[in-house]
Amino acid sequence: MSGNGKKKPRVYSRQVIPRDQHTVSRSIISEQAKKVLNRLNNAGFEAYLVGGGVRDIMLGQKPKDFDIATDATPEEVHELFRNSRLIGRRFRIVHVLFGREVIEVTTFRGNASDPDDDQDDDRKTSEHGLLLRDNVYGNMEEDALRRDFTVNALYYCIKDFSVIDFANGIEDLRNRQLRLIGDPETRYREDPVRMLRAVRFAAKLDFEIEPATEAPILTLAPLLSHIPSARLFEEVLKLFSAGYGAASFERLTHYGLLEPLFPETARAIAAGEPDALIRQALDNTDRRIHQGKSVTPYFLYAAMLWPALQVEWRRRQDEGEPIQPALHGAIGKVIGRQVQATAIPKRFSGPMKEIWELQMRLPRRQGKRAFVTLEHPRFRAAYDFLLVREDAGEIEPGLGQWWTEFQEADDRGREKMLTELDSDGPRKRKRRRKPASNG
Ligand code: ATP
Ligand code: MG
Repeated sequence: MSGNGKKKPRVYSRQVIPRDQHTVSRSIISEQAKKVLNRLNNAGFEAYLVGGGVRDIMLGQKPKDFDIATDATPEEVHELFRNSRLIGRRFRIVHVLFGREVIEVTTFRGNASDPDDDQDDDRKTSEHGLLLRDNVYGNMEEDALRRDFTVNALYYCIKDFSVIDFANGIEDLRNRQLRLIGDPETRYREDPVRMLRAVRFAAKLDFEIEPATEAPILTLAPLLSHIPSARLFEEVLKLFSAGYGAASFERLTHYGLLEPLFPETARAIAAGEPDALIRQALDNTDRRIHQGKSVTPYFLYAAMLWPALQVEWRRRQDEGEPIQPALHGAIGKVIGRQVQATAIPKRFSGPMKEIWELQMRLPRRQGKRAFVTLEHPRFRAAYDFLLVREDAGEIEPGLGQWWTEFQEADDRGREKMLTELDSDGPRKRKRRRKPASNG
């Protein structure tokens, strides 16, 4: 059967936008990316900047990284660049390495939405329509049409500085619309992660998700449970550590996508558990990122799972477990359930537990305790977490300030603070209501 009888939701034609009609300035493209483009071109291959690199530059934003599409095979690319690595088994791409910068070079791929290809051994879909393999090389147009959003399918040609648009991406860019190429439901079934990408780009670019692209998400969100948990973990990090975490959370919740990513948290919030701490943590994280500071996955996860932890911790106490063992049990349970949705590498789950456990230790400062806590390798993160809890209105402010001062104080100052604690006691606030009895 030929592909002629197929229904195509939109007819696209190739448009070339010459250099004087677009805003891509060569100076924003990294030297390394230009080097790779030029070397491929000089070796007789086609090569274009594609994806987020072109999209972000056209929007006046600084791209996170640069992706290149070429008609050279991965082996040919690898041969041209000594500083390159072949990545992936099924779908091979090439990373060209320049110190910390990685340029990703991908060979043009065939059209992913062609049901006729289902017989092809290199392009397999599951019964859910999930794309299992995607290893067919194609021409440039096919490469464009198998990409996710129209604004991600723009190609920049370094030879004549033109932008090539196969899917009306420029128009969507101008109207700030995220539109999937092809039939949205088919494209989400092929790869449900595209739903998360829609949310992420909408948050980052402050775009609308166009109605037809938006419509199937609520229904198809559960398909994300077919995605390997390790890939979802990576997507979660991209959602929350790119500087637009608060906006991403907003949209995830709106589209029912929090549920497959953080089932327990989604359930806790639906049952009335506050999400103020999550929002506060994401706000702070966004601010830190825009200030060029780093954020850690375990801090994000500690915040994202906090509502779930509260519910489980309370439930255990209600059943008569003492507070401390109840916390330990709850931590184990919540992490155990979460790793079924998104993996949490051990190097992150350990520190995450410590942040939570330290929340119980931070109020207990008498004697040597404050000093021991201060020396804890996770003290700083736990202290930051405490401040977020205070800012979120979850606990009364005061303890955070005490720890701020304690860190800043010299030895004498610290002794004095602890003496005051001893005389005033941890029940300071309650006592104060009574007439002072300096006893
Ligand atoms: P950013 O790098 O800012 O996160 P990006 O658009 O460059 O955004 P990448 O994940 O780097 O995203 O992917 C590069 C390009 O590869 C995308 O622009 C898109 O064209 C294509 N692509 C990536 N993931 C998918 C996917 N799941 N389905 C279809 N196309 C994809
Ligand atoms: Mg990219």
